[in-house]
Amino acid sequence: MPNFDEHRIAPGQKVDLRKLESDGKDLVSNPSQLENEFHERRTEIVELGEKLFAEGRQKLLIVFQAMDGGGKDGTIRSVFEGANPQWVEVTSFRKPSAEELSRDYLWRIHKAVPPSGKIGVFNRSHYEDVLVVRVHKLVPEGVWKPRYKQINAFEEVLTASGTTILKFFLHISKNEQKQRFEERIQIPEKRWKFDPADLEKRKYWDDYRAAFEDMMEKCSTENSPWYVVPADQNWYRDLVVASVIADTLKKMAPKYPDPPDVSGIVIE
Ligand code: ATP
Ligand code: MG
Repeated sequence: MPNFDEHRIAPGQKVDLRKLESDGKDLVSNPSQLENEFHERRTEIVELGEKLFAEGRQKLLIVFQAMDGGGKDGTIRSVFEGANPQWVEVTSFRKPSAEELSRDYLWRIHKAVPPSGKIGVFNRSHYEDVLVVRVHKLVPEGVWKPRYKQINAFEEVLTASGTTILKFFLHISKNEQKQRFEERIQIPEKRWKFDPADLEKRKYWDDYRAAFEDMMEKCSTENSPWYVVPADQNWYRDLVVASVIADTLKKMAPKYPDPPDVSGIVIE
């Protein structure tokens, strides 16, 4: 088994995405051995999620960020296949509405954090406010720069109230993005995902890279770590994400509540 801890960013660690592998197959000697591994990890997630729900005390927040085409949707689909929709809540954060823009940037995020007993999944997140917002200068630097500290403080509030946090950056190469965009154009079933705006954002690849690096350097903390997941291969990406989630749930060790005393009960 490869050691997936190597993908975790330590607090304060410098991040250079050009030096970090996006290609999972370079990291394992025998990919076919790992085929079953993913299914086992996913089964663990389903079993532990069920206990988390029954216990009703702890909560897990999972954040996904990536370049466009990085595979957030696909990862969420495959890692949570078989999960009970009663305890997994996925929220996708798009361009803020006028109502959202008239509040602080964390308002819509805070409303979506998972309650006790649930797993909350963020498809994009408050980190957009130091990514797209920074790269496209949607607010002045004096506004976005203090956000790293604000985000750390916000996440500390969540941790202090019993939320475990995991954050995944799905790392694809620029060439892989090109191939995925081409597929979206060529394959009729994928065309609905094609967004001409993505081609515009691709021109800012290096600016986005720098913004992702800063985000992880400044906001990977002991209690709320970032993982850089090599994501050019879907199978490796899914295996890493499922393994980290399953291991985290094991550490949280949710238990079914003590059953009521049923001795002497007779059902007529
Ligand atoms: P897919 O990756 O599957 O295409 P998506 O997450 O890109 O899905 P879209 O509706 O295509 O969903 O795009 C959402 C857009 O909203 C992205 O371009 C993202 O950068 C933008 N967005 C998200 N949060 C913010 C924010 N706080 N401010 C400005 N733009 C944002
Ligand atoms: Mg999109």
